[in-house]
Amino acid sequence: MIKFSDRLNNMEESATLAMSRLSRELKQQGKDVISLSLGEPDFATPSFIEDAAIEGMKEGYTKYPPVPGYDDLRQAICDKFQRDNNLHYEINQVVVSTGAKQSIANVVLSIINPGDEVLVPAPYWVSYIEIVKLAGGIPISIPSSIENDYKVTGKQVEEKISNKTKLFIFSTPCNPTGSLYSKEELKELANVFAKYKDIVIISDEIYEHINFSGKHESIAQFPEVYNQTVVVNGLSKAWAMTGWRLGYIGAPKEIAAACTKMQGQFTSGANSIAQRAAIAALRKETSYLKEMISAFKNRRDIVYKGLLEIKGLHVNLPKAAFYFFPDISDLFGKTTPKGQVIQTSNDLSTYILDEVLVALVPGEAFGNPNSIRISYATDEATLTEALRRIKIAIEKLK
Ligand code: PMP
Ligand code: GLU
Repeated sequence: MIKFSDRLNNMEESATLAMSRLSRELKQQGKDVISLSLGEPDFATPSFIEDAAIEGMKEGYTKYPPVPGYDDLRQAICDKFQRDNNLHYEINQVVVSTGAKQSIANVVLSIINPGDEVLVPAPYWVSYIEIVKLAGGIPISIPSSIENDYKVTGKQVEEKISNKTKLFIFSTPCNPTGSLYSKEELKELANVFAKYKDIVIISDEIYEHINFSGKHESIAQFPEVYNQTVVVNGLSKAWAMTGWRLGYIGAPKEIAAACTKMQGQFTSGANSIAQRAAIAALRKETSYLKEMISAFKNRRDIVYKGLLEIKGLHVNLPKAAFYFFPDISDLFGKTTPKGQVIQTSNDLSTYILDEVLVALVPGEAFGNPNSIRISYATDEATLTEALRRIKIAIEKLK
């Protein structure tokens, strides 16, 4: 019998991917499932990006690329950081990877030794914790609640810092809450980390462009933490390029060199054709994204209205990304028509899937068992139908 490693056995399957697998399986069995489980834009990749990929193939970009990415792509990323974020990076501070997920894994595996602590505000994106555990690190979560829009303060963070703290990982805009840290809130966090120069900050900004509330702010803008901050970004969300698998970092050059060394042994670098496509995307003016952002905003408004009509949910209005994370704890203790008592977010998502065939992701996976994640990266008619079904299921709870 094959005996698998403790490393694998201790790892949870990605809950987002698990839910989307389950909905795919149910659909294959002919069930009319609506999946609001995956954070994947339903838009097609813009055709000018596809054309750039085809062009790249024809030009012979089909060989091993340089491990940190082609120089002209890394230059396009530096120019993007300057244009959109007013951040200055040289190309030796940029590493291109197989998705933002790998970018994060590279940094964590480069920095964390067994026993090191990593601070992660909760709710957090599912994969942070498992990547930290893979490196032998100890995730220390910093709880927040819907009352403070699921954000943490500098004071809360500082209370958790110990002499073992090596990393802080957060996302803004946030998956799963759609919250956005303001410049002032980021400054407050920066003031704390400026006192602890050997703590590295991973600022996951993959939802940067899907923002309904003004300018995107990065913690890297503050000179006092620039040299300890890694900005993670990628093409999956804004450019609807989830399958192309392309992400990148802007980082202090020692960290960029470490990540290059790391991925030199794992992947040899990101797909050459996707890299050519990424140059076209990053060189495009972001005004191109206006229509997509406004479609997401309309969807957000539809879902917000629908959720407010369901008794037992506490809902905040997300300012960015494409998720709602309503607090469902008022439903705990209620009984389903089959006589099962809802005790957890897991129970509720299983019940909603069984009863009305809508797939959501339970809050446990994001470090907040009182809530449930709804992804609205799908069309308005499907969202309206999904909300109708969720309302029916919740109204049946007694
Ligand atoms: N960070 C967050 C917060 C995400 O939601 C995702 C979702 N895919 C990623 C990173 C990873 O993105 P990628 O597809 O570039 O690996
Ligand atoms: N990030 C997306 C989500 O949270 C995609 C799934 C994944 O990469 O885990 O649903």
